[in-house]
Amino acid sequence: MNIRISVRTKLFLSHILIVLFIAGTAGTYFYLSAVESLMDGLKERLQASAGLISQTLDAEALRHIRTEEDMASPEYVATLDQLRTLKRMNPDIAFIYVMRLEAEKIFFVIDSDETNAQALPGKKYAHVLPSLQRGFTSMIVDDEIVTDEWGSFLSGYAPIKNAKGQFLVGIDMRADQVREKYSALRISGAVAVSVAVVLAFVLARILANRFMIPIRVSISRCSSIAEGRYDEQLDIQTNDELDRLIEAINKMSNSLSLSQRTTQAAVDSLRQAKDELEIRVRQRTSDLSEVNNKLSQEVAERLVAQKALQEAATIDPLTRLFNRRVVQERLDLEVARSSRQNTPFTLVIVDLDHFKMINDTHGHDAGDSILVETGVRMKGIIRGQDTLARWGGEEFMILLPDTDSAGGLEVAEKVRARIADTTYYFAGKEIRVTASFGVAQYKGDLEGAITAADQALYQAKNLGRNRVELAGAEL
Ligand code: GH3
Ligand code: MG
Ligand code: MG
Repeated sequence: MNIRISVRTKLFLSHILIVLFIAGTAGTYFYLSAVESLMDGLKERLQASAGLISQTLDAEALRHIRTEEDMASPEYVATLDQLRTLKRMNPDIAFIYVMRLEAEKIFFVIDSDETNAQALPGKKYAHVLPSLQRGFTSMIVDDEIVTDEWGSFLSGYAPIKNAKGQFLVGIDMRADQVREKYSALRISGAVAVSVAVVLAFVLARILANRFMIPIRVSISRCSSIAEGRYDEQLDIQTNDELDRLIEAINKMSNSLSLSQRTTQAAVDSLRQAKDELEIRVRQRTSDLSEVNNKLSQEVAERLVAQKALQEAATIDPLTRLFNRRVVQERLDLEVARSSRQNTPFTLVIVDLDHFKMINDTHGHDAGDSILVETGVRMKGIIRGQDTLARWGGEEFMILLPDTDSAGGLEVAEKVRARIADTTYYFAGKEIRVTASFGVAQYKGDLEGAITAADQALYQAKNLGRNRVELAGAEL
């Protein structure tokens, strides 16, 4: 079982126990010493007084006082008067008396008692103690209080001069007076002890509190450190080991404060670095997205330009048909494919008839419009895999893959009819247009095939125009 006792209580108890122990021991010692010295003083006084009185008395004068009858003798009367005067002069003394030793018995001779209890001459004293017996030969005092029929007393004895061991004078001091003196001593002892206890109590409390204040302050400071308040300092001085505790707490709080400031500074600079990094990242991101936008824009522009360039390179701007370059490339491809797969292909060259005259008659714009519309009409007839291109001014080339000369003639005839049979219109005017066609099948020589188609066209012109002619069989 753990009994919880506060440091303050422990300190208080230990202080008070120590003080009580010391006060008790010292008090007891001084009390006992005082009692002893009081007793010694009383005994000395009793003995001195007995000795002094014994010197004023003469045994020779007392020797014949033996019975009550002798009370009238002048010696009895004078000595009684002397003893009573001496007794009255000293209030501490209860009785002064003279005793005789005879045949080992002790008898009263004179008693100063002024009451009815006065011991008359010849009265035997029954309560014989060794000290009383020795009093006949030397000065002596009882060791302790003795009680007899007259009460309790401390007594001193001295032999009377010329007594030869037969007479003594005795002095009784009342025990209650002795006890009163003891009691006064005890009371002052008790008062002193009480004062010592109260002082011990007060001092123990003051000491315990003095010790506890720095401990409480230290505990409270430790709690405030635990709550993160590092900048406060303890400002108390105890001039003992607690000063080192307080110094250690102050040191601890200083170093915690320093490390907190260092950590805070590190956190601040880290945060600042993070903020700066974020700003830079945002800037970079925005720069990058700007660059990206610019790039995308440029790419788009380039694509447009590329497309325009590609178009310019491959498309005839007036008729939107492929230009001569494209058809030449495709002719090369067809040559390769034909030799690889051994498939035929056929060329058709188309030339509009008397086009100069149409221009002259209807204007150049009308001529342009007829060129555009002729392209559209031809496109409507040829297949998806066929290639139609503008070959020159008012001339067109049709490339027919997988087609022999018969197929070529058929296509050419359809195109011819499509141009010739349907009237053209420009600016509300009817314009009749015809075209002549030279057809040649590729037979292993591209240039030869083109020339043959040209010649067939030439022949068609010569044979009256608006007709289709196949190249010679020698091709
Ligand atoms: P032929 O029947 O013998 O072919 O007679 P033609 O007048 O068609 O032949 P020629 O070679 O003498 O004339 C061709 C004309 O085509 C000359 C030229 O002005 C015209 N021409 C060529 N290209 C264009 C063009 O792009 N637009 C217009 N409107 N006319 C063009
Ligand atoms: Mg021509
Ligand atoms: Mg012509």
